[in-house]
Amino acid sequence: MTMNNEPQSSSLDNFWMPFTANRQFKARPRLLESAEGIHYIAQGGRRILDGTAGLWCCNAGHGRREISEAVARQIASLDYAPPFQMGHPLPFELAARLAEIAPQGLNKVFFTNSGSESADTALKVALAYQRAIGQGTRTRLIGRELGYHGVGFGGLSVGGMVNNRKAFSANLLPGVDHLPHTLDVARNAFTVGLPEHGAEKAEELERLVTLHGAENIAAVIIEPMSGSAGVVLPPKGYLQRLREITRKHGILLIFDEVITGFGRVGEAFAAQRWGVTPDILTCAKGLTNGSIPMGAVFVDEKIHEAFMQGPQGAIEFFHGYTYSGHPVACAAALATLDIYRRDNLFQQAVELEGYWQDALFSLRELPNVTDIRAVGLVGGVQLAPHADAPGKRGYEVFERCFWEHDLMVRVTGDIIAMSPPLIIDRAHIDQIVERLAQAIRASA
Ligand code: PLP
Repeated sequence: MTMNNEPQSSSLDNFWMPFTANRQFKARPRLLESAEGIHYIAQGGRRILDGTAGLWCCNAGHGRREISEAVARQIASLDYAPPFQMGHPLPFELAARLAEIAPQGLNKVFFTNSGSESADTALKVALAYQRAIGQGTRTRLIGRELGYHGVGFGGLSVGGMVNNRKAFSANLLPGVDHLPHTLDVARNAFTVGLPEHGAEKAEELERLVTLHGAENIAAVIIEPMSGSAGVVLPPKGYLQRLREITRKHGILLIFDEVITGFGRVGEAFAAQRWGVTPDILTCAKGLTNGSIPMGAVFVDEKIHEAFMQGPQGAIEFFHGYTYSGHPVACAAALATLDIYRRDNLFQQAVELEGYWQDALFSLRELPNVTDIRAVGLVGGVQLAPHADAPGKRGYEVFERCFWEHDLMVRVTGDIIAMSPPLIIDRAHIDQIVERLAQAIRASA
């Protein structure tokens, strides 16, 4: 607390940090001051190797001049324009560019400002679509255990991260079920690439259809690969099976590609990498390389068409945000897409995948490593928890990486997750793995 109204620029008191142990952080803050390429520069000048592309979002690396210049130009010429009943050219241009890289048919784009808003928007599109086609009894939504779809009440309801939900359990959306998650370390530990076992977990959807009746189910939402839960990969055949079952029963399939989008697992989207096309796809993060908040929802043109009925003067979908298609965010996204295309970054995760996997799997014999999962340029290293304190070992490794080895990783429980910028090279992959190895050894 400050005693007077003097500005206290160095105080950490007032910012209530999201998803953070505030008191622990403020006792020993990890403050980043700038960033370039694949490094953050921390307070005091230390260069921190960015093993996570920020928060899975800076796929083209940091400090991209093309993006900052486009943003500066845009804010100077059109800082804001209302998106309701008015327009400006950029979201139209951006949507057209996104349609070029979208999975086939998903060529209508609704803009949001975050992954959470994208999830809620996608669920609302699904529900409104079912009504529009005369299937108004289809109101149930199905998510998945361990799923993360942000923190709005919609995304939270279909999500399956217990800590995020439990304080709100009485307030979540009604009519929601969860498929089982596909993390199965007992059967799949140390599988290189997609796990062999677990496709049968998609059959649970048939069980829910039998239980509720397909005529009551609007949509299923999943992350093709769960990132926040600690890198949970889709078992071979699982996504295909979900697609078959949803199609058979007239249930929409939504992929949340907030993490997997924009080259993270190779190709623009996981849908393309794994050859399964959903009806609706959400994204955010890499859309602007993390530089300006923005999300998007890709909708199949047939779904969109169902809304475009009735009188021409009728608003087709009562939904939107003050900042949908914000000019500055659009400028950032367009510049980002230019970089992705020019530098062929969507291919990088495929090209480096083998090297990345080999490097990560070299950690296999280290103490307490119970599983390694890797695909594209994503990796998860699961550690055995301390018997009395789950999460403690993971957090210790994370802290050691940052303070002792100048490496930024993510930690979820006792799983270390990594997703370096797609511009990373082999030498820096080696550095990530060597540094992580030292931290894991020291935390044994
Ligand atoms: N969906 C997924 C799959 C995510 O990983 C995230 C964030 O990590 C979100 C949604 C929420 O995005 P945001 O934090 O931008 O609201």
